[in-house]
Amino acid sequence: DKPPDARAPQAGDIAELIPRPTAESDKYRRGVLGLLVGSDRYTGAALLATGGAVHGGAGMVRLVTFPVAAAAVRQVHPEVVITELSGAGGPRFPQDVGRVQAWVAGPGMGTDEEAARRLAAVLATSLPVLVDADGLTLIASHREMLPRAAPTLLTPHAGELGRLLGADPADVEERRLEHARRAAISFGACVLLKGSTTVVAPPGGIDPVLVNTTGTPWLATAGTGDVLAGLAGALLAQGMLLPQAAITAAYLHGLAARLAAAGGSADGDWAGRHWAGRHWAGRDGA
Ligand code: AMP
Ligand code: MG
Repeated sequence: DKPPDARAPQAGDIAELIPRPTAESDKYRRGVLGLLVGSDRYTGAALLATGGAVHGGAGMVRLVTFPVAAAAVRQVHPEVVITELSGAGGPRFPQDVGRVQAWVAGPGMGTDEEAARRLAAVLATSLPVLVDADGLTLIASHREMLPRAAPTLLTPHAGELGRLLGADPADVEERRLEHARRAAISFGACVLLKGSTTVVAPPGGIDPVLVNTTGTPWLATAGTGDVLAGLAGALLAQGMLLPQAAITAAYLHGLAARLAAAGGSADGDWAGRHWAGRHWAGRDGA
C-alpha cells in the first residue's frame, strides 16, 4: 500500500538509530532540549510534551512556560529546569535559556502575537527546531517565518498540513505522501505527517519518504501528538538528523501505544510480548 519510493524502517533499523549513553557521556553531551510549550490554559500540553522529552533520553530538558503550567510540570518532572514566562518583561528569550541544543515549540503555547514573537525568536536561532500544533497555526498566518537556514521539523496532522498548504484536509488524507513532500519543499523542512500511518518527508523532497505503521487507532486521542513532539525533540537534541529522529520517534511512539493498549487482557499480554520480543530481542546491553 505504499509506492516504491517510500521506505518502512524495521525494528533492527530503529534499534541501531537509538542513541545510547557511553562512559564519556555527561548531561550536556547527551543533549539539552528546550521546550516552548504550554500556557496557563493548556497545562496538559506542557506536561505531555515534557514527558515525551524526558523519556526520549535527552541529558537535560529546559522548559519555558507560564506559571500554572510550570507548577504542574514541577510536580511530575522535578528534574526539568523551568524558566517562567510572565505577561510583561520576563527573561530575554531565548538567549537566557542556556546550552539548549534543539527546540520544540508549539503544543499549547497559544496563537496570540506574543506567542508569535517567541516562536520567531526560536526560529531565528541556528538550532534544530521542531514545530507542532499552535506553532503550525502561527506559521500558517506568518508564512515569512519559514524557510530558515537551520534544520526544521514540522509535525502536522492532515488538518494542520491542509492549513499550511491552503489545501483541503480530505485531499491531504487522500494523497498523504504527495502533500508531505510538497510541504517539505515549500517550507524547506522535514515534514512528519501524522495519521493512521505516519509519513516522513525529508527536506528537499528528493530522498525517499519514510513510512511508519507501528501505531494503533488507540493513539487517536487528545494529547498523544504532544508526547510525540517531546520525544522527537529529545532525539534531535541528541544529534540525530531530521528524518531519522522523526521516523524513530514515530516508531517508538506507535510501539509504546501498542504495548500500553495491550496491557491487561490475555490477548493483550500476547500482543505485548510479541511486540516487545521483536523489538528488544538481541539489543546490546538492554
Ligand atoms: P495529534 O493529531 O497531534 O493529536 O496526534 C495524534 C497522534 O495519534 C499522532 O501520532 C497520530 O499519528 C496518531 N494517530 C491518530 N489517529 C491514528 C490512527 N487511526 N491510527 C494510528 N495512529 C493514529
Ligand atoms: Mg496535535
